[in-house]
Amino acid sequence: MPSDEEQTKYILPEDQMPTHWYNIAADLPTPAPPVIHPGTGQPIGPPDLAPLFPMALIMQEVSQDREIEIPEAVREVYKQWRPCPLFRARRLEKALGTPAKIYYKYEGTSPVGSHKPNTAVAQAYYNKIEGTKVITTETGAGQWGSSMAMACAFFDIACRVFMVRISFDQKPYRKGLMQAFGAEIYASPSEETNFGRQVLGETPDTPGSLGMAISEAVEQAATDPDTKYCLGSVLNHVMTHQSIIGLECIEQMKMAGDYPDIVIGCAGGGSNFAGIAFPFIGKMLRGEGDVRVIAVEPAACPSMTRGTYAFDFGDTGMMTPLTKMHTLGSSFIPPPLHAGGLRYHGMSPMVSHLLELGCIEATSIPQVDTFELAQQFTRAEGILPAPETAHAVAIAMTEAMECARTGEEKTILFNLSGHGHFDVQAYIDFNGGKLSNYEYPGELIEAAQRKLPPVDA
Ligand SMILES: *Cc1c(COP(=O)(O)O)cnc(C)c1O
Repeated sequence: MPSDEEQTKYILPEDQMPTHWYNIAADLPTPAPPVIHPGTGQPIGPPDLAPLFPMALIMQEVSQDREIEIPEAVREVYKQWRPCPLFRARRLEKALGTPAKIYYKYEGTSPVGSHKPNTAVAQAYYNKIEGTKVITTETGAGQWGSSMAMACAFFDIACRVFMVRISFDQKPYRKGLMQAFGAEIYASPSEETNFGRQVLGETPDTPGSLGMAISEAVEQAATDPDTKYCLGSVLNHVMTHQSIIGLECIEQMKMAGDYPDIVIGCAGGGSNFAGIAFPFIGKMLRGEGDVRVIAVEPAACPSMTRGTYAFDFGDTGMMTPLTKMHTLGSSFIPPPLHAGGLRYHGMSPMVSHLLELGCIEATSIPQVDTFELAQQFTRAEGILPAPETAHAVAIAMTEAMECARTGEEKTILFNLSGHGHFDVQAYIDFNGGKLSNYEYPGELIEAAQRKLPPVDA
């Protein structure tokens, strides 16, 4: 056993893997706003969602139970890579000359290299037991598509992925991985759907967006009873599935004899952030320990730091229900940015609600600053973070450097949501001086927000 002074790795034994997910809805001081039907302006109920999702997931979406049992079949799959390690970043601490203690949870140990299979496997399982034959979904850079393709392969369900066109053309490796798992992949917008044909008719050269790809995947599920739709982030049931990250961290921090003062995650739709943060926020809401929680987004896609808290569609085709969230507007087309997984116009309604309640903070950082710090992390710790993850790494390091200035010995925990082995091009471009910092122009944000649907709920 290494001494307390040297230990860098905390491994939870397999038989101590959590048996239940954590649902933060049970601990909220005020409930999140309802989900609204765009046609009637009234709150929707479970039957409205039945064409898209299996009932088990719909019930989790609205559940008030604090604990939800992880099915045995899902736990069996999780055991291939879970519990995953918590590391103490001792070499990074030395390099930064900080009195802070830096811990990171490493979700890159899953077969596809990120946290996303935590929910993909659960969603595939519930679809399987309710008889789904085909799952449709969208993907940006391909992280989610490859997770869903893998989960569908495990549970013998056909998987159809609408991949944002610009990534389809520029990022062949995750496409190759999805094909190896047996998925069908279409560049979105595609000729496969009414919505895709309409967009191609109007703008044949569009690079596509996640919002468009969601519309295509939703359209197919809504029009075929054997087909259901899966979303990799944003929704409450996804946040719940990802809570296994933070639940494991709570046990591992006990092993380390420590408790975080600050918990940090990057946020695109909010799922890996929720995964690490919600179990700690839950403890805070139950009076079991204060913690400062920071969600980090790219300056080029700043839904929480520059968006509005309003009811909006989750997609470009205006097919999804309306949820109240921090949004740049569903007509917003995000700028090209290496952190593909953070290029979404909205934010999880639950994360947005916690921001409004003051339970969390949000901050943003431009991409060049992000890669500079992430590369410094790599030189100290060896792991090359995914470009999305790099945003969490950068803010954790910024907080640790602040401790070096003030002499405070804070304990910082962040989620290393995935490795960057499929995104090495981003680092090549960074080191070749090809990246620039980009702030989203205020006029364009205002223009997209003028198109927000009128809802007064
Ligand atoms: C997709 C992805 C993200 C962003 O999605 P969230 O739902 O906000 O977590 C972050 N990190 C990695 C590694 C991803 O693949």
